[in-house]
Amino acid sequence: MPTGNEPKSLGLLALAGLQPYQPGADEEYMNEAQTEHFRLLLKAWRNQLREEVDRTVTHMKDEAANFPDPVDRAAQEEEFSLELRTRDRERKLIKKIEKTLKRIEEDDFGFCDQCGIEIGIRRLEARPTADLCIDCKTMAEIKEKQLQG
Ligand SMILES: [Zn+2]
Repeated sequence: MPTGNEPKSLGLLALAGLQPYQPGADEEYMNEAQTEHFRLLLKAWRNQLREEVDRTVTHMKDEAANFPDPVDRAAQEEEFSLELRTRDRERKLIKKIEKTLKRIEEDDFGFCDQCGIEIGIRRLEARPTADLCIDCKTMAEIKEKQLQG
C-alpha cells in the first residue's frame, strides 16, 4: 500500500465534525456509541471523496474546450490524465469505505482480520478502513518488502 494517500487523523475527525472518541472506563469495545462514531466518520469521508470526484468531472467537462495550440492541448491532456489517476484512487477508496460501512452493519468492524484482536479506537480514527491490527499490518508490510526484494 502506498503511504502517500493515508488519511490524516485530525483531518478526518475535523471533516466529520467529531472529537476523538473517549470511551468510558468499563465501556464495551464497539458498542452502539462507538460504531455510530465510526459510521459518521466513514460517511463524512466518503461524501467528501464523492464531491471531489464530481467536481473533477464537472471541471473536465468545462475545460474540455478545444485548444487550437497543440502544446496547450498536450498540457491539458497531461493534467487530465493525472486527475483521472487521482480520481481512480478515490473511487477505489470510496468502495473500501462502503465495504467498511457494511461491516459495521454486520457487526464485524474493529477487529483484526488476521488475529482477531481489537484494532483500537485511535488507530481506526486515523485509518477507519483498517482491517488489520498494527502488529499484523507491520508484519504484512515487512513480508511485502521482502517479496519485492
Ligand atoms: Zn492482528
